[in-house]
Amino acid sequence: MIPIRLLIIILFSGAVYGNPLDTINSTFSRKEILELAKEASSLLHESNFEKSFITSRLVLRYALTNNDNDLIARSYNIIGANYEELSEYDKAILYYKKGLVYANKAKNDTIKNWINNNLGNLYCFEKKEYKKGIAFFNESLRFNQKNKDTSQIVFTKLNIAWAYFDIKLFKEGIPYLEFVNNNSAKYGDKSNLVILNMLNGMYSGNIQNYAKAEFFFLKAIELGIKNQNHLDLSFSYNEYSSYLFKKGDFKRAYEYLVKYNKLTVEIQNSQNIKRAKRVGINVELDEYKRKVDTISAANNLQNQSLKKSKIIVVLFIVVIGILLLQMYTLYKNYLFKKKANNVLTLTNAELIIAKEKADEASLLKSQFLSTITHELRTPLYGVVGITNMLLEEHKELENSPHLNSLKFSARYLLSLINDVLQINKIEENRIVLEDLTFNIGDEIEMIITSLSFIAKNHNNTIDVDLDPEIPEFLIGDKLRFSQILINLISNALKFTHDGKVIIRSKLVKVEGIKHYIEFKIKDTGIGIAKEDQEKVFETFTQVGRKDLDYQGTGLGLPIVKKLLGLFESTIFIESVLGEGTTFMFVIPFDSNPEKTNDIINDIEVDLSNSQVFTVLVVDDNSINRLVTQKIIEKRNYKCVVVGSGKEAIELVENSSFDAILMDINMPEMNGFEATKIIRAMGVLTPIIALTAYSKEEITEQALSVGINDIIVKPFETAILFKIINQLIFKA
Ligand code: ATP
Ligand code: MG
Repeated sequence: MIPIRLLIIILFSGAVYGNPLDTINSTFSRKEILELAKEASSLLHESNFEKSFITSRLVLRYALTNNDNDLIARSYNIIGANYEELSEYDKAILYYKKGLVYANKAKNDTIKNWINNNLGNLYCFEKKEYKKGIAFFNESLRFNQKNKDTSQIVFTKLNIAWAYFDIKLFKEGIPYLEFVNNNSAKYGDKSNLVILNMLNGMYSGNIQNYAKAEFFFLKAIELGIKNQNHLDLSFSYNEYSSYLFKKGDFKRAYEYLVKYNKLTVEIQNSQNIKRAKRVGINVELDEYKRKVDTISAANNLQNQSLKKSKIIVVLFIVVIGILLLQMYTLYKNYLFKKKANNVLTLTNAELIIAKEKADEASLLKSQFLSTITHELRTPLYGVVGITNMLLEEHKELENSPHLNSLKFSARYLLSLINDVLQINKIEENRIVLEDLTFNIGDEIEMIITSLSFIAKNHNNTIDVDLDPEIPEFLIGDKLRFSQILINLISNALKFTHDGKVIIRSKLVKVEGIKHYIEFKIKDTGIGIAKEDQEKVFETFTQVGRKDLDYQGTGLGLPIVKKLLGLFESTIFIESVLGEGTTFMFVIPFDSNPEKTNDIINDIEVDLSNSQVFTVLVVDDNSINRLVTQKIIEKRNYKCVVVGSGKEAIELVENSSFDAILMDINMPEMNGFEATKIIRAMGVLTPIIALTAYSKEEITEQALSVGINDIIVKPFETAILFKIINQLIFKA
C-alpha cells in the first residue's frame, strides 16, 4: 500500500487576502492575523507552499512578538503541514511538536486535537511507527471527547481502526470501526465512505464472512469510482485483491491487482509531476524555510534567555528572601538585645547604685576605722608612755606584776588596733612599701628577743639558720618584713609546746641588685589539718580553738598573706596534724653596697651630734604632752609645751625654736592650720607632725601646708631624734 495518510486536518476556511506582506506591522489586528493564518492553510490546500510559508511566517512573527501562544501553535501546525506535504517528515514532526507545546500553553483543546491527529497520521502512515501514531490518535480522541465533537470522534476512530487493520490487529481495531459504522450516517463525512466500506470489507474477510466482505469491497469500489476518489479507490482495489487472493479466487484477485496497478500508475504519474514540481519548489522554498527556521530559532533563543531571566528572577527572589529572612532574624535579635539591654541597663543602674552604696559604706568604714583607731591610739600612747615613765622613774616597780600586766595589756591593745588598721589599709591599697636599709641578722635577732617570752613560757627552743650568702645589709620595707616574721614566729611558738622552732633563710636567686631570699619558719607543734590549711588565711579564722586557751584574734596570717602580696610574693604551707607546720615564702630584697654604706655613714653623723636644741611641743592632750616632754628632756634637749595651735603661734612670734612637734588633731585650730599661719609669718623652723594618724593619710596635706616630716605615735625615740636632728641640720 502506498503510504498516504488519510487526512491532514487543516480546517480553516479560506478567506483569501491579497499578497501577503513580508513585514508585519503593528497596525495589524489579531483578527486580521487570524485570517492570515486561515489563508496560509488554504494556500497549503492549494499546494501553494511558497505563499503558505510566507504567510505562516508572517503569522508566526506576529504571534511571537505578541506572545500569542494560540497563534504560535496555529502557525507551527501549518508550517508542520507544509513540511509534511513536502515529504520532510522529521521537520514536520519537529514543528508539530513545537505547535503542541504552545497549544498546551494556550490551553486550546481544538488545536491540540488537530496536531495530535496530524502526528498520529504521520507516525502511522508515513513513518510506520503505529504504536506511537495510535498514541497520538488516542490523545486526539481525548480532546474530541472533551469537546463533544462527534464528527471528529468518528473521523479519528476511523483513522485508528485503519491503523490497527494495517498491522492486522483486527481485534483491537474493531471497536473503533463499529463506532464509526454506528455514527457515520449522522456524523460522518461522505468522502470517508470509501475507506469505511473498505475497512468493513477487510474485517469481514478476516472473519471469513465472505458475503459481507464481497458486499463492502464492491461498495467501496463503486463509491470510489462514482466520487472520482482515486486514491481511496486504489486502496480499495489493493485490499480487495489481497482478500480474493487469500480466499483462493486468484483470477479475480489478479483482475483487481491489474486495476490497482493501473490506477496506481496514474496516481503516481500525477504524483510524480507533483513531486517534480515540489522538488523544484523545495529548492525555491529553501529561503522561506530558512526564514521560518530563523524566526523559530530566534524564538528558541528568546525562550532560552527567558528561561535564563526566569532563573535570574528566581535567584533574585531567593536572595531577597534570604536577605529578608536575615533582616527578620536581625530585627528579632535587635529586639531581643534591646530587651536584654533594657534589663542590663536596669541592672547596671542598680549595680551602680549598689556600688555607690558599697563605696560609701567602705569610705564610712575606713573613716570610722581611722577615727576610732586614732581615738584609741591617742590615749593608748599615753598609757604606754606613762607605764614606761613609771618603770624608769621607779626602778623598784620593775618587777611589779600589776605594772607589767598593764604594760602588756596596753601593748597588746595597741597592736590589735594596729592590725585592724593595717588590714583595712592593705585592702584599700593604701600601703606603699618603703625602702629602708637594714641588717637582716639584727632584724631576726630583735624579733626573737621580743618573742623570747612566749618561747620560754611554752618551753620551746628557737634555732636560726642564716645563709652566709645573704648580704649583710638589704634594702626593703623592713617594718613590713618584720611584721611578717613576728606573726609567723609568734604563731609557731604559740602553737608549739616543748618543741622547736627553726627560722631558716636562704639566698635562692640573684638578678642584678635583686636578691631572692627564701624564708622557712618550721615548728614541731600541733600542726594544721589539710582541710584547714586554706582557711587559716581568712580574717578572724582560728581552727580548733578551745575557749581562751591562747591569745589571738585570727588576724595574723591574713596580714602576713596581704603583706607578702605587697612584696609580690606568696605564702606556702606544709603541715601534718600533730607533727608540725612549716610556712615558706620568698622575698626579693635589693642589695646595693655603695648606697647602703652612704646611709650607714649618714646615720652615724646624725647620732654623733651632742648639741642641745630647744623643741616646742604642741598638743591638746595633757598626758601626751607630758609623755613627749619627758622623752625630749631625757635626751637633754630643752622642751617648751603648749596646749593649742593659737598659743603656739603667739609663742613662735616672740621666741625662736630649733624644731616644732605639732599634734594634728586639736580642737579649735588643728595642726595644719597652725602650721599654715606659722609659715605665713615667715618662720622656717622645721615642723614635725606628731600624730596618731597614719602617715599615708596626712602626707599630702602636711606637705602642702609646710610640714617637714611626720612621726606616727607611738614612736621609737631613736627615730624621733634622728628626724629632729636631720631637719635641724638641714635648716
Ligand atoms: P592573731 O595572730 O591575730 O593573734 P591567731 O594567731 O589565732 O591570732 P592567725 O595567726 O591568723 O591567728 O592564725 C590563724 C589560726 O591558724 C590560728 O588560730 C591557729 O589555729 C592556726 N595556726 C597558725 N599558725 C599555726 C602553727 N604554726 N601551728 C598550728 N596552727 C597554727
Ligand atoms: Mg597569729
